[in-house]
Amino acid sequence: MTDDAATFTTRSPATGERIAEHPVDGPDEVARALSRARDAQAGWAALPASRRRDHLLRWKKALATGLGPVARTIAEETGKPAGDAALEVVLTLEHLAWAARNAERVLRRRKVGTGVFTVHQRASLVYRPLGVIGVIGPWNYPLYTPMGSIGYALAAGNAVVFKPSELTPATGLLLAGLFDAAVPEYAGLLTTVTGPASTGDALARSGVDKLAFTGSPGTARKVMAVCAETLTPFLAECGGKDAVIVTADADLDAAADAIVWGALSNAGQTCAGVERVYAVREIHAALCARVAERAGKLRPGAGPDATYGPMTLPGQVAIVEDHVTGAVSAGARALLGGPESVRAPFVAPVVLTGVPEDAAAMTEETFGPVMAINAVAGVDEAVERANASRYALGAAVFCRSGRTGAAIAARLRAGAVSVNSVLGFAAVPALPFGGSQDSGFGRIHGEEGLRAFTSVQSMTVQRFTPPIALTSFEVPAATRERAIRMARALHRRR
Ligand code: NAD
Repeated sequence: MTDDAATFTTRSPATGERIAEHPVDGPDEVARALSRARDAQAGWAALPASRRRDHLLRWKKALATGLGPVARTIAEETGKPAGDAALEVVLTLEHLAWAARNAERVLRRRKVGTGVFTVHQRASLVYRPLGVIGVIGPWNYPLYTPMGSIGYALAAGNAVVFKPSELTPATGLLLAGLFDAAVPEYAGLLTTVTGPASTGDALARSGVDKLAFTGSPGTARKVMAVCAETLTPFLAECGGKDAVIVTADADLDAAADAIVWGALSNAGQTCAGVERVYAVREIHAALCARVAERAGKLRPGAGPDATYGPMTLPGQVAIVEDHVTGAVSAGARALLGGPESVRAPFVAPVVLTGVPEDAAAMTEETFGPVMAINAVAGVDEAVERANASRYALGAAVFCRSGRTGAAIAARLRAGAVSVNSVLGFAAVPALPFGGSQDSGFGRIHGEEGLRAFTSVQSMTVQRFTPPIALTSFEVPAATRERAIRMARALHRRR
């Protein structure tokens, strides 16, 4: 695609066949979408929260009714199996339902206590929508991931202009089309603009009231720099290098089953997918054998028998190959597959062990069906290594006791941790999701995810004239001194 192209073509990641042609939207189209969104948002924000809930639930119903075509579009654009695409829609429905049903409770005016000198005030917090939210999304979960921002932003009273990945524009267009059809009185409240980086750049410069970005940390830095020019608030959901810790008393079959799914589903193209495993030495060999045996049965491909699909982004194949080759030449042992597993656009499962901690396969996001299972002396070393990454998104702990597992989880820097499962947190809409460092900042989902798309207004309403009024030039000096003496006495007590 040249920089000034008017359209771009999407292609099947599995076959390279042309899927569709879409417009490259530029600053003018983005400005039009923003203006429509602003018009629609004024009325949307003025609605009682219960009416917004009802509209969003109608949209959810339309998405559930259209699950088949939506899942087919996702599968076509990403190459993932139809069943996986359908599960992505199901997960999205759960989140949309939660955001719609909980926004009123979470964002209602909340009273807060006052102090000795402010008893005459009634104090409260008011959560106001921000206006129009720009959402820039990735391709790996082209519905579920951006909906973590879109559904929650709309539920909080905002409008949204959405720029899906250039690999998955039809999914984004379908989403906005379903909204317009289900909620025609607010058509334009959610608009999808299509195009590559230039369209995302135009959105970041358009004057949106917040930009919610999901993608790689490198792109996040660029978009954040653009937002910095206008002090546009920015939320970054970026990559991960998630670690799993397996203790000596863990159920190894359950751990192996979960690790294989966490590392290989969606061809490993999951931000919070399993990439590193730290197993204590006593059970390391047994775990490796179980994981390799299970992973060895899985096949990538495009047909109905395939466990997972191709690498969606053609350029990612070289990165995966580089990580595997680099690890093996640095001394890692391949328990399953190896550099020969990379046969673009497919990559067969690769299980490595003894990978040096400074190899790219341990420090950078591989985003492919590759995992490293390294042995550690004990839980302390596992925690130290898991935390040594510059990413901090998700993690998991496998341990016989849930209580001990939770104690280990609490020592991890990750934004979300599952004990005795992988990615358990992603399916619970009430749990906020997000990371720190190169995994980004800010939270989507849950109460924090609703509040992320509001600005909090602090309000006081004076109930009566205070006996000691300090905010007046009329206060006698003696009264002020008495108040200061009282405050001093009060605060010196404890
Ligand atoms: P990417 O960074 O290449 O692109 C993300 C989006 O940004 C795309 O829509 C792209 O067109 C747009 N973009 C690119 N350059 C831009 C620019 N200069 N200005 C504005 N927009 C620009 O990421 P990707 O390859 O689409 O997605 C994969 C990444 O996303 C991985 O790192 C993955 O871990 C991450 N991810 C994170 C989460 C999460 O919730 N934390 C979820 C899914 C994916």
